[in-house]
Amino acid sequence: MRRVLLWMARNTWLRDHLPRLPFARRAVRRFMPGETSDEALAAADALLAEGIGVLFTHLGENLASLADADAVVQHYHALLDRAATRPRPPEISVKLTQLGLDIDAERAFEHADGLARHAKAVGSFFWLDMEASDYVDATLAIYERLRSTHDRAGICLQAYLKRTPADVQRLLPLQPAIRLVKGAYDEPGSIAYRAKPDVDAAYLALAVVIAEAARDQGARLALGTHDSALIERIALMAEASGTPRSALEVHMLFGIRASELRRLSSAGFPAFSLVAYGEAWYAWYMRRLAERPANVIFALRQLLP
Ligand SMILES: Cc1cc2nc3c(=O)[nH]c(=O)nc-3n(C[C@H](O)[C@H](O)[C@H](O)COP(=O)(O)OP(=O)(O)OC[C@H]3O[C@@H](n4cnc5c(N)ncnc54)[C@H](O)[C@@H]3O)c2cc1C
Repeated sequence: MRRVLLWMARNTWLRDHLPRLPFARRAVRRFMPGETSDEALAAADALLAEGIGVLFTHLGENLASLADADAVVQHYHALLDRAATRPRPPEISVKLTQLGLDIDAERAFEHADGLARHAKAVGSFFWLDMEASDYVDATLAIYERLRSTHDRAGICLQAYLKRTPADVQRLLPLQPAIRLVKGAYDEPGSIAYRAKPDVDAAYLALAVVIAEAARDQGARLALGTHDSALIERIALMAEASGTPRSALEVHMLFGIRASELRRLSSAGFPAFSLVAYGEAWYAWYMRRLAERPANVIFALRQLLP
C-alpha cells in the first residue's frame, strides 16, 4: 500500500486530475487549514495562543520554470512580513525544488539566501526540507553555504538513509539546526532502511548524537516525528546524560496527533506544528496517506454523501 501511494504521489496524470475531485478536497482538509495564507495564519494564531510554535510550508515541489520559483519566493517574503507581526514569528520550511533547484542550483541558493536573511531580520527561522535521495547532496551543500552566514537556518535529515550518520558528523562542526525525521519517500534498500524497527533504531541513535551536540556545541535539535513513544525514549536517554527535555524540540504536522503534541508541550518539550497550505497539495498529501494506510479509509469515506 505504501509503495502504491508513493507511486501515485509521483504520477503526473493523477497530480493533475485527482485534486479536482470534491472528495479529495474534503479529505485533505484534515491535514491543512486551507489553501491560502490567510487560512494558514489564522490556524497559526490559534496554535500560538496555546503556546505551540508554528512553521509554515507553502506546498509545491519540482517546479517547471524559474518564473514559478520566483513567484514562490515572493509568496514566502510576503508571508514573512505578515508572520513578523506575531509576538512569536512563525518559522518557514521550504523545499529547494520549490526554489528552482531542478533548473538552476545557483538561483535556488540565492533564493534560499534571501529568505534566510529575511527570516532572521523578522525573528523567524529558515528551514530546508529534505526531499528524495537524489537531492541530498545538493541540499547539504546549499545548507553549508547558508550556515556560514546565517545563524537562523536549519536542515531536515532523514533517519532512514544509511548515509545520515556521516552527514550528521559532517554538519556538527557548523553548530547546525537539524530537524530529524524518519523519511517520507520510497527509497531502495541499498541506501535506506525499509523496516520500521530499523528506521526507529537509526532515529534513536541519531537523535542521541545530535542531542549531545546540542548540549555541548550549541546545535538545535528538532524531533520531527509523531512517534511519542520514541520521543520519550530519546528524552530518557538524553536526560540521563545531562540534556534536559527543554532542549529537545518536538515538531509535528498540523492535523496529526495534535493532542499528543499538546501533551508533550505540557510535559516540558518545546512544541511546534508545521502548517502546510496551498493549492499544490497533491504529492504532499499522498505521502501523508502512505505514512498511515488508515488515512486512505478516511479519504474514501469522504466519497459518502
Ligand atoms: C515537522 C515534520 C517535518 C517533516 N519534514 C520532512 C522532510 O523534510 N522530508 C521528509 O522526507 N519527511 C519529512 N517529514 C515526514 C517524516 O519523514 C515521516 O514520513 C512522518 O513524520 C511519519 O513518520 P513518524 O515519524 O511520524 O513515525 P511513524 O512511526 O510513521 O508514526 C508514529 C505514529 O504517528 C502517527 N502517524 C504518523 N504519520 C501519520 C499520518 N500521516 N497520519 C496520521 N497519523 C500518523 C501514527 O499513529 C503512528 O503510529 C516530516 C515530518 C514532520 C513531523
